[in-house]
Amino acid sequence: MSGSLRRVLRLPHPLRPPRVRPPLVAALAALTLVLCGLPASAAPAAGYDHRRCGNTSGRVLLTLDDWPYDHVERAVETGAYLKGKGIRAAFFLINQYASQQPRVAEALRRQGHWVGNHTYSHPHLPRLPEADARKEIRDGVRSTLFRPPFGDYGPRETRIAASLGFRVCTWTVDTFDWEDSGGRFPDVATLRARVRNAPAEDKHGGVVLGHLFTNFPDALPGIVDDLRAQGYALCRNTGPTGPVIRDPLRC
Ligand SMILES: [Zn+2]
Repeated sequence: MSGSLRRVLRLPHPLRPPRVRPPLVAALAALTLVLCGLPASAAPAAGYDHRRCGNTSGRVLLTLDDWPYDHVERAVETGAYLKGKGIRAAFFLINQYASQQPRVAEALRRQGHWVGNHTYSHPHLPRLPEADARKEIRDGVRSTLFRPPFGDYGPRETRIAASLGFRVCTWTVDTFDWEDSGGRFPDVATLRARVRNAPAEDKHGGVVLGHLFTNFPDALPGIVDDLRAQGYALCRNTGPTGPVIRDPLRC
């Protein structure tokens, strides 16, 4: 994605506060998963917090979104680094790219990471007619976790995602790594400081948002060192994963 396109698409994250799923919708989502043959444990438990994605472990979940446009190997290299540190992260890939190079998602899952749905082409879903929004989610990466592009979603998107077997996953810490000024993204030291200085309640059992096309992958060694120095643990890498990501997360 070009810098100018990113600027055109850029909007504050998140656009809307997370909504609580009504119990009836949650029950229907669970029933749909059972009927579709997916384990009911992939469906969200009561009290599911979209911002924490089912992370009840107290550990920190690192997440990386979109696609490494100018250097595709960066995704797998980042996955290898995290695996080497014993860390499981979540990658929310845009499927119009990921479907062209399926080896990337396969490698990430083999490395022990989760790969989630970030739609087919990264639109603002609430601006689309319902049928188009549904198609965008349906044609995303096969998974049970769904991250709405730009964090832009409402009850309609939550309902569509649930009907397709997904639970919405946003974040507690936005590094704003995507926010460029004069065509430059925030540097490694800035991103590291943003995570270091984020509120404790957003890090304990929290979810950190970064992107594959910014300086976030390069900032990870410092971020990991800082989090551990501050006494936080990170989600543990326990080996290869599949498309079904259970609630609560196995962090
Ligand atoms: Zn995105």
